[in-house]
Amino acid sequence: MTELLLKNACVIDPLNRVNGEVMDIAIRDGWIVEKVGNGAEVIDAKGFLTLPGGIDSHTHICGTKVNFGRYMMPEDMRAGRTIRKGVMHATSGYSVPTTYGNSYRYSAMGYTSILEGAMAPLEARHTHEEFSATPLQDTMANTLFDGNWPVMEAVKEKDVKRAAAIVAWTLAAVKGFAVKLTNPGGTEAWGWGKNIACIRDPVPHFEVTPAEIIETLIRANELLRLPHSVHLHCNNLGAPGNYQCTIGSFDLVPDLNKERQSLYATHVQFHAYGGTSWKDINSKAEPVAYAVNRKPQIVIDMGQMMFGKTTTMTADGPMEFNLYRLHHNKWSNHDVELETGSGIIPVYYSKKSLVNCVMWAIGLELALLVKDPWQCLLATDNPNGAPFVRYPEIIGLLMSKRYRDEEWRTIHPDTGKRAILDSLDRELGWHDIAVMTRAGQAKALGIAKIGKGHLGAGAEADIAVYPIRIGETDPSRDYAAVVSAFQRTAWTIKRGRVVCRDGEVVVEGTNRTIWSRSKVPDSLDMGKDPEFVKNFDRYYTVRMSNYPVQDAYIPRSGCIESEAVL
Ligand SMILES: [Zn+2]
Repeated sequence: MTELLLKNACVIDPLNRVNGEVMDIAIRDGWIVEKVGNGAEVIDAKGFLTLPGGIDSHTHICGTKVNFGRYMMPEDMRAGRTIRKGVMHATSGYSVPTTYGNSYRYSAMGYTSILEGAMAPLEARHTHEEFSATPLQDTMANTLFDGNWPVMEAVKEKDVKRAAAIVAWTLAAVKGFAVKLTNPGGTEAWGWGKNIACIRDPVPHFEVTPAEIIETLIRANELLRLPHSVHLHCNNLGAPGNYQCTIGSFDLVPDLNKERQSLYATHVQFHAYGGTSWKDINSKAEPVAYAVNRKPQIVIDMGQMMFGKTTTMTADGPMEFNLYRLHHNKWSNHDVELETGSGIIPVYYSKKSLVNCVMWAIGLELALLVKDPWQCLLATDNPNGAPFVRYPEIIGLLMSKRYRDEEWRTIHPDTGKRAILDSLDRELGWHDIAVMTRAGQAKALGIAKIGKGHLGAGAEADIAVYPIRIGETDPSRDYAAVVSAFQRTAWTIKRGRVVCRDGEVVVEGTNRTIWSRSKVPDSLDMGKDPEFVKNFDRYYTVRMSNYPVQDAYIPRSGCIESEAVL
């Protein structure tokens, strides 16, 4: 039995309605308990800000496309190199670091759980192998269904139960966590050199629309009782005028269930553009935020863009091709048979570019205009909008109007004609930030019930102690202190062990992979469905028996079971 007592912690724990109380946290064998014995190891938190471990609900850190980004860009790998030190492996890479680089940097920022935003089922093994080399965070994988042939057949036949059964079989086979739709239908169209403009465009050959795919999978997801909702990357990412498509997608969410979240829309900054071309692009954060405010069933993440170098990577192959035609730099394109695709290009977001300045403003506008922080989470779609190491600056910008104004003076002078950021006075508080970086994620992903994202008794002891005293800091004025505190914890505790101290990793980690299994009736087991089996063997280049990810790929598994209502 190992016991730890974290004393004098200034706790903000939104899921338990604790807001800035100085208290002790007792930990036994990795879990938070009511109290521990006298022999427990004691850490004095000195009144520092103490939050549940950070959770990133949308990031790209593992899998084939991330890895391809690594070897496509040796110049990125040369940046951010650190030498081997103590238990720490050598790392390299800035926007697409090695797996250990990702893990250490997240840990230094207090993050203890992360969700890979897009895993192609056929390439799941690679993702899981890299998860096991990401030792300091529990991991989850959004599983791509945007161009899944059997799902589109079920959508065409309006057979929600069959769509649900295919999702259940696939998630269990590849140890996936949730349903991800990236440019639904668009990645399949891209196989024919085409794209989908918006939710009412039919997908070639299948003759279903993105709207039908989204609606069917929202309903299938509900039937399966999966922990997370459908996770949507809307059609038409990054295109001027796309905000209408985004709001149209939000309108597909049924009003029926106000309690249960039905849709998570990711990196909405990239989907909130007005105008008709790059010449007149402008912010439509206001109508998009208004649409979110109207629907409590929707949660979004910001997809904040920050100035500087990064790498963009997504399953949205056609979008990356359009970006490539703008930048004329390197480009990679990839098709995943029967399922999805992907593309990668490097970018530099510049303050001299009016388009980039408008993008920067839109992400912040969204976070300031969505009224309820539980509905707008902090993320950059790492590394697409910016590498995740920029999160502390985003926190500073959200908490300080003064910081925003200072930045505003350095960007393109015409930004004010296209965006309204400088007119927004709202400054978010510590509690809002705690929601937007961990509690909100735990709720949206449905993992609070397995003890994540909060600090009550029974929770997993994942804790971040930041070297800042909130009573002595005015974030509006001392934003630099806020940024620096969130860059480096005093202690990051993962499952009851101090894993990182003052920014330095001190132990080898052991993470868990969290995945979902929904039990469906035998009659809907796709592994025994003659048509599904026949088509699988006919169209895939792999045999069905070789498709599932073996348990050996997941040394420590945290399966969330649910009972489907089919
Ligand atoms: Zn993404």
